[in-house]
Amino acid sequence: ESIQVSLLGLGAMGAALAETLLKAGHTPTLWNRSPGKADALVALGATEAGSAAEAVRASRLVVVCLFDHDSVHEVLDPLVGDLAGRTLVNLTTTKPEHARELAAWAAEAGITYLDGGIMAVPSMIGQPGASILYSGSAEAFREHEALLDVWATSTYYGEDAGLASLYDFALLSGMYVMFAGFLHGAALLAPAGVSAGEFAKLAAPWLTAMTGGFAGFAEVIDGGDYTVPGQQSLEFSDLGLFIEASVEQGVSAEPIAMVQRLIQRQVDAGHGGEGFARIFESIRRPAA
Ligand code: NDP
Repeated sequence: ESIQVSLLGLGAMGAALAETLLKAGHTPTLWNRSPGKADALVALGATEAGSAAEAVRASRLVVVCLFDHDSVHEVLDPLVGDLAGRTLVNLTTTKPEHARELAAWAAEAGITYLDGGIMAVPSMIGQPGASILYSGSAEAFREHEALLDVWATSTYYGEDAGLASLYDFALLSGMYVMFAGFLHGAALLAPAGVSAGEFAKLAAPWLTAMTGGFAGFAEVIDGGDYTVPGQQSLEFSDLGLFIEASVEQGVSAEPIAMVQRLIQRQVDAGHGGEGFARIFESIRRPAA
């Protein structure tokens, strides 16, 4: 069944969202600040609105995928009256506090609000492996879940609108630190004449295998006892030699030095004999 939906923002991601809707048999109403971006999509059956206000008025379900939090306010603040009584799904990447602020703004105006965090690049939208995290109005999620599933696997995390963003950032934080670790390894090997491509072939299966360690760390953290036997201790995990080796290769030791600082804080506090998972405490309780 085709659902009337409006989509504001036809950047790389918005255009992929629109195209996927069209392929699934929906006929979205589209708007983009700069003209011309809807042309190819109109050819596929979409309707182009002459203004953001016109797009909002066309559908009970309004989806925005703009650049950032400020651009969402810039576009929607003047339309708050038009949005009243409608459902707003915000797929723009924002931090949790921004999502909560928008949810409060929406509640004040009688707008039903659902926040989304896209865990995919545009080419993955509508393909297996794409995931979108949601939080905010449970009712909106339930009502529109079938449409949201056209884009990706949709998962709902709760009424706190900041949760989708929080999960999104938690996953992306892990990814960026891993990427930096891979690039540090590549930089270490570069002076030895090893190409990044050769290292990538080695690193991908190694890091994939290492993800098997997450569950063990989680068990220790959730159990609340970092002294349980069978763990690699913080003292054993001293990364001093890694830092020296980086310097001796003439490359920056920053990615590994960051990990060493987290280890050192626990060692200094007298926990050197406890498990590596204890650096969770260095992060959870930041140094003053
Ligand atoms: P693009 O830079 O390709 O597109 C940005 C869009 O925002 C354009 O439609 C642009 O309009 C619009 N825009 C920017 N500022 C304003 C403004 N002040 N008023 C009105 N419209 C504005 O970005 P993406 O499409 O890639 O990303 C969109 C969102 O999706 C971002 O929040 C991004 O973080 C998120 N996302 C993107 C991913 C990706 O891989 N691309 C992955 C996951 C999330 P105009 O054409 O007029 O410039």
